[in-house]
Amino acid sequence: MSFVDLPVEIGPVYEGERIRAKQMYVELGGPKMEKHFELVRVKPAKEIKDGQVIIKGIDLKDMKEGSTHPIGIFVEVAGPELEEDLEAVFERRIHEFCNFVNGIMHLNQRYTNWMRISKSAFEKGFNSFEMLGTILIRLFKAELPIIKSAQITIFTNEKEIEKPFEMAMEVYEKRDERARSINDEDVDMFYGCVLCQSFAPTHACIITPNRMSLCGSISWFDARAAAKVDPKGPLFEVAPQECYDEIAGEYEGINQTLKKRSLGEIDKVYIYSGMEFPHTSCGCFEAIDFYIPEVNGHGIVDRSYGDVAINGLPFSAMANQTGGGKQMPGFNGISIQYIMSPKYQQYDGKIEGLKSGIETVVWMSKTVKDRVAEFLPADLIDKIATNEDVTDINALKEWVKDVNHPIIETDGYRTATADEEEVDEEEYGALEGLPLGTQTISIPGAGGMGGFKLILKNCKIHCETLIIKKIDNKPKRK
Ligand code: SF4
Repeated sequence: MSFVDLPVEIGPVYEGERIRAKQMYVELGGPKMEKHFELVRVKPAKEIKDGQVIIKGIDLKDMKEGSTHPIGIFVEVAGPELEEDLEAVFERRIHEFCNFVNGIMHLNQRYTNWMRISKSAFEKGFNSFEMLGTILIRLFKAELPIIKSAQITIFTNEKEIEKPFEMAMEVYEKRDERARSINDEDVDMFYGCVLCQSFAPTHACIITPNRMSLCGSISWFDARAAAKVDPKGPLFEVAPQECYDEIAGEYEGINQTLKKRSLGEIDKVYIYSGMEFPHTSCGCFEAIDFYIPEVNGHGIVDRSYGDVAINGLPFSAMANQTGGGKQMPGFNGISIQYIMSPKYQQYDGKIEGLKSGIETVVWMSKTVKDRVAEFLPADLIDKIATNEDVTDINALKEWVKDVNHPIIETDGYRTATADEEEVDEEEYGALEGLPLGTQTISIPGAGGMGGFKLILKNCKIHCETLIIKKIDNKPKRK
């Protein structure tokens, strides 16, 4: 395979390239665009013209610098050994292959795909989607030899993208519906994926029927099909072996696999907990489950949510905390499908004395709640607040009491709220009389991990608000 006829370099070395707003020529898809997608479908060979790239909409050279456009990447592939179950796994490779191109940054998947093309790539002559399509076709056929022929249609026009977008949404829903039809108990093999190790070297996904991959694009069926056709590839079998804890989802085989695949970093994972030994997150998660210590509950926010979440942080800030392949109690990257799973964070629910993990959830962005509403327990659905119901922690505290959310029956909630009730005006007055000397205050980090200690010597502080900011000591570039 050669790319010498193309004006930019292509190879895995460019994965991880970041293209900031100032460096980009154009942006495609992403949160500013309503409809965008990428989809792979297996077709009979006679329906495909191998190597063909069709552009529906304006081409790259006709786009204004700094502009944002819809993007639909529709890949049709053929080959005698291909089956429908492989489509989702092929589709996930679009992310990887686009990132091979020096001058393209690709993020996310399915209908959250987001690309930037750099000014420098454009100036070098990368000025047509025909080139992008050609690169993808060559990489698909070279990296996945069971694909014998491929053609690509690229949509960049709001009108043209409408129908294929609807078609893609139907295909995703059909895949997800099938994925929801089985449970972990029904199978004797789980699967793993290391496709994202180029971004997060210690991260590997464990994919079971009840815990879809956190990118939301690879179900247990998809992983099984991929591991079957390419057992030495990025998706592989994980024999569960002995189950140490059914509620936590701790398995001997998963622990062993993760130890090996994370280069020794991770040796124990509870796949059904966001608080204890949680599954690691790369950066591709569809949503984040985050702990809200003030009410001992959890919130869920997805990538498409543009405002700050109930904890005052935007998705992007939480994503920085969550991703990177570390175990981060209190910040857990998840797929939307996993929220619908009967095993959703069931360990966290159980240790709080709740009926299920979903009962720990007190807040969701409206975008998430709309998507999972029909799968939420009937007696809980109206008790989970959204950004339309409450916008700050104080309002959330009132909300959980008003709606009688099950979280208020937990010891953790009582402890979390007792602290502030105890520090009333009278007590505050008493604190003022504390003798001067050395006082030590420990401030835990998210989920009880990390954190820091403040040591106050011979000082008296009386203030309404204390803001602690990280100081960046790095020298500024001139
Ligand atoms: S998020 Fe997980 S399943 Fe999805 S591509 Fe990355 S490693 Fe694979």
